[in-house]
Amino acid sequence: MSRMQRIAVYTGSAPGNDPVFAAAARAVGTRLGEAGIALVYGGGHTGLMGVVSDAALDAGAEVFGVIPQALVNAELAHPRLTSLEIVPDMHVRKMRMAELADGFVALPGGPGTLEELFEAWTWLQLGFHAKPVAIYDVDGFWQPLLAMLDHMVASGFMAGTFRDSLIVVHTPDELLAELAAWEPPTPKFAR
Ligand code: AMP
Repeated sequence: MSRMQRIAVYTGSAPGNDPVFAAAARAVGTRLGEAGIALVYGGGHTGLMGVVSDAALDAGAEVFGVIPQALVNAELAHPRLTSLEIVPDMHVRKMRMAELADGFVALPGGPGTLEELFEAWTWLQLGFHAKPVAIYDVDGFWQPLLAMLDHMVASGFMAGTFRDSLIVVHTPDELLAELAAWEPPTPKFAR
């Protein structure tokens, strides 16, 4: 069991069109603050990224934002973070977020969220880190993606053990419990 001190949240720069998404982002941010766990995220103030960071700050969490210079205006860099790192590009953003965090979770979001989730998860598969990666499902939002992953396993493109390494949760308490209890899988190319 590992103590999570900082959790990276990947989520939409849009709010989505159903208020359940913002409610879930708020609940996660609040729970992090209550648990004394810091939030690491993309540093913006738009969409669900803004909601989760505001909720975490309001609940007393430390919040670390990492944003590329080119997006400081587009994503409205959050004005009241514990720390806001302005980095040169997306690659450095993801690397810094991965360094800072003890675990990762994707809340509902768009292609940027997926890209970040898959980079964190595939790095785990390659053994570049050994930190838990979770999907936070809200109202079945991630079910089509999970079906695709099962299809990859069934088609012989992914090991079932790796599929099983991806945590799927539905509540903030479940998220914290599963991240803390998680054990890393054997990396794909381990010798
Ligand atoms: P989205 O889920 O598309 O709303 O995007 C969520 C976040 O992912 C936003 O902060 C985007 O800037 C970010 N993002 C999009 N593409 C990338 C990428 N290639 N690398 C890192 N972050 C990205």
